[in-house]
Amino acid sequence: MDAAWTAEDEQFRREVRQFCAEHLPDSIREKVLASRPLARDDYMRWQDILAKRGWIAGFWPKEYGGCGWTPTQSYIFQEETSYAGAPWLLPFGVNYVGPVIYTFGSEAQKRRYLPGILSNEVFWCQGYSEPNAGSDLARLKTRAVREGDVYVVNGSKIWTTMAHWADWIFALVRTDPSAKPQEGISFLLIDLKSPGITIEPIKSIDGLHHFNQVFFSDVRVPVENRVGEENKGWTYAKFLLGHERVLSAEVGKAKRCLERIQQLARERGLTANARYRDRMAGFEIDVLALEWTTLRLLSAVMGGQSPGYEASILKLRGSTILQAMSEFAVDVLSADALPYQPELMLDRINVADEELTGTMGIVTEFLFQRAPTIWGGSNEIQRNIIAKHALGL
Ligand SMILES: Cc1cc2nc3c(=O)[nH]c(=O)nc-3n(C[C@H](O)[C@H](O)[C@H](O)COP(=O)(O)OP(=O)(O)OC[C@H]3O[C@@H](n4cnc5c(N)ncnc54)[C@H](O)[C@@H]3O)c2cc1C
Repeated sequence: MDAAWTAEDEQFRREVRQFCAEHLPDSIREKVLASRPLARDDYMRWQDILAKRGWIAGFWPKEYGGCGWTPTQSYIFQEETSYAGAPWLLPFGVNYVGPVIYTFGSEAQKRRYLPGILSNEVFWCQGYSEPNAGSDLARLKTRAVREGDVYVVNGSKIWTTMAHWADWIFALVRTDPSAKPQEGISFLLIDLKSPGITIEPIKSIDGLHHFNQVFFSDVRVPVENRVGEENKGWTYAKFLLGHERVLSAEVGKAKRCLERIQQLARERGLTANARYRDRMAGFEIDVLALEWTTLRLLSAVMGGQSPGYEASILKLRGSTILQAMSEFAVDVLSADALPYQPELMLDRINVADEELTGTMGIVTEFLFQRAPTIWGGSNEIQRNIIAKHALGL
């Protein structure tokens, strides 16, 4: 593998770093660095800044409005922005549905939907999971019955992140209940303002409102909103999940997390403590190994290979390391982690310069880090993939 950055990569890294230093608003950076919850406006404001720079969809091909970044440039962009304390670039439009539309959609769909993603004007959410279809996604039951030019949709989607903020949902629906599970699914784009849709909040373990259950009751969706062929949605769904995993090891965030723990330990006089040093050294090695594994995958992808089980390794290790580090951060806080009141954080969600209780965000992050080992294909499922495809078990 060739892990050396090219001169262009180095130049691009400097450009992204400089851009973040100059354009990432302090109020947003402070919230992210303190792991405090962000409001819709925080995400949108940063994404508007990126959209103006033409960097919302940098990795998209130029013909669809992207910059045609190489996988290496996409990685550098993600590492630098997250290390700088930028919000997570919401993936639903740009990383998920956008590539599905420009790869499998009609010309009319490309013209209609891609501009709203590039300009950050349309907020998308992902309607895959259902109450009895998570890991076993092909069991999904939300039904779409064709009546002339429309599908009539009934059913519900669950764990729909940010649906309460979204304008549109891309959903997997069952169009042929008599076919084999994977063969009777279609991929629909649904306007969340359509009559018959209700969105109910689900509070997560941190006490905050990230996700929802979305109910469809006789929702009429024009047939022209179907991407690709009827009953071929599973192909597009899998294509999308491949995109979901490639950048799933957040190396920039992991590095930032290491620094945060070191800072906490210094404030608490723990840096000479042998147990602290031992655990810290372990995490430093883990993050370095994660970075090199990521670079190895990038090197293969740049060499023309498509990511296979290696993407599962990244998802598995990236999420496990961040989860363990968030636990370590809470251990370093010790008894200071006990008084946790999410309501306080919510009430003051937009008071950027107020120092709340200082370290509460660390507990929020610890609780939130339960999630990445579940979403995007749980870690047990990733282990199955590695066992089968890499180890041949
Ligand atoms: C924070 C968060 C945000 C999410 N956002 C969205 C979203 O926006 N849109 C969306 O559609 N979905 C979303 N999800 C849902 C996510 O994709 C599912 O939770 C995930 O696919 C797991 O499905 P499940 O929750 O139904 O668990 P289940 O599939 O019921 O799994 C339960 C447990 O059993 C294990 N298990 C299941 N099958 C196997 C097997 N064959 N072998 C070994 N172990 C197995 C799982 O790993 C897990 O530990 C989100 C989830 C989280 C946590």
